[in-house]
Amino acid sequence: MAMNEPKTYFIRTYGCQMNELDTEIMAGQLHKKGLIAASDEENADLLIFNTCSIRDLAERKVMGKLGRMGRGHKRNQVIGVTGCMAMAKKESLFRKFPHLDFVIGTNNITDLGTVLDEVLYTKRQIVKTDDRFEENLDYLVAKRDNKIKAFVSIIRGCDKFCTYCVVPYTRGQEVSRPPESIVEECKKLVDAGYKEITLLGQNVNSYGKDQPEWNCLFHDLLGKLDKIPGMERIRFMTSHPIDITKELMEAIRDLPSMCEFVHFPIQAGSSRILKKMHRIYTKEQYLEKVALLREIVPNVSLGTDIIVGFPTETEAEFQETYDVLKDIRYSLAFIYAYSPRKGTPAMRWKDDIPEEVKLDRLQRLMALQDEVSNEERARMLGNTYEVLVERFNKDGKMLKGRTRCWKKVIFDGDESLIGTLQQIKVHSFSHETLIGELAKPQGHLKVI
Ligand code: SF4
Repeated sequence: MAMNEPKTYFIRTYGCQMNELDTEIMAGQLHKKGLIAASDEENADLLIFNTCSIRDLAERKVMGKLGRMGRGHKRNQVIGVTGCMAMAKKESLFRKFPHLDFVIGTNNITDLGTVLDEVLYTKRQIVKTDDRFEENLDYLVAKRDNKIKAFVSIIRGCDKFCTYCVVPYTRGQEVSRPPESIVEECKKLVDAGYKEITLLGQNVNSYGKDQPEWNCLFHDLLGKLDKIPGMERIRFMTSHPIDITKELMEAIRDLPSMCEFVHFPIQAGSSRILKKMHRIYTKEQYLEKVALLREIVPNVSLGTDIIVGFPTETEAEFQETYDVLKDIRYSLAFIYAYSPRKGTPAMRWKDDIPEEVKLDRLQRLMALQDEVSNEERARMLGNTYEVLVERFNKDGKMLKGRTRCWKKVIFDGDESLIGTLQQIKVHSFSHETLIGELAKPQGHLKVI
C-alpha cells in the first residue's frame, strides 16, 4: 500500500458527460490540494479510474486493466476507483484487487480529499458509497480543459427505473441542484469567456420536481440562465420524453440562447416493448409530443437513442421502430443492440433474440439513418448557419465547430476565430461533416 503523499494525479474517464464533469470536479479538488496533472497513468502518483457501468464491456475494460496492474503494481502509486462501477461493486473490488486503495461512489466525489488523507494516514483501504447524493458539492472548483464549452450539472440521479438501465442503482434518486448555485456557476463561466453551456443530468427535464418549494422547474431555470448577460448558447442533455413539457418547448422557441436541438430518446417503436422497458409512454404519446414540439419550434433538430433486440421483440415490433425512424427523420440516432446488465430488472428475462438477428436489425436501422442524415445534409447546402468555432480539425488545416442544431462544420479561417460565433455558408459535406466558408469577411461578428 502506498504511503507517500502524491504530488501528481491522472484520472482515466469512461462513459458519459456526467462522468467527464465529475472528473473535472475531482481534478479541481486535487489542484486545490496542491497536486498537478501527470501526463499519463504511468507517471502519476495518484491514479483514478472514473468508471461506467452502462454496458458490460465498459466494466470489463477497467477490470482487465486493474488486474494487469495488480501483477506489476507500481510501489507508492495510490490507486482509486470512482464512478458507476464503484457504486455497483463497492468493497468487493478490494477482494478482487488487493492493490486498490480506495473506492468512491458517484454520490461521494465531494469526499475525494478526505478519503485520500485517510488512505495516506491510516494505511487502510477506504470505501465511500452513499446511496443518496447530498447537494454539498463545490462545482466551482471544476478544472476544465475546454475554454469555450462547459458542462454544468443541474440534477443528479434518476427516478425512472427503465428495466434495462443501471443508472438509478448507481447514481441514486434525482436530486436537483439549487438554481442560485447553477446561475452563479454559469455567470462565472460566461464572465470567463465560455460561449456554450450544456446543462447535464440523467434526466434534466425532471429538474426542480423534487423541490416543489423552489417553484423552479426546468423551463424556469432556462429563463434565469438566458438572462445572464453575455450568455450565447445553452444546450441540455439528457431528456426523458415523459417530462418534455409545452413550457419547455416554448422556452426553446422564445429564449435566444436556447439551441434548437433536443435529444429525445424513444428507445423502441412498439408500445408493448416500451411497456416492458418501463419507459412510461406509448409510441402514440411520444409521436404526439414530437408533433407538438415541431409545431412550436419548426426548425428544431432531434436526436434519439434506440435499443434493438430487447427480449421478446418480434420482427413486426422491430418494423414499428424502423417506421418511426423513417417518419420522424431524426438528425441523429444512437442505435444499440440490447445487452443484459447485471442488477437490472430486465435480467429476469431471457435474452432470447439471437445475436445475428440483433446485428441485422442494428444494420438495417443504421443504413436507414445514414440515408436520412445524408438527405438532411443535402438540404443544408447553400444555406448559412451560425457556427461556434471550437478548434482546428484533426489535420489542423481547417477550423471546426458546430451549428446550433449540433451539426459539425469545417471551414477555412485562422486561429483568431476560435471561440467566436461565425456565420458559415455550407457548400458541401463529407460523411457527417459539413464543409463551408465564412459568409461574411473574416471578423468577430455574432450572427443570428
Ligand atoms: S431515464 Fe431510464 S435510461 Fe435514462 S438514466 Fe433513467 S433509468 Fe436510465
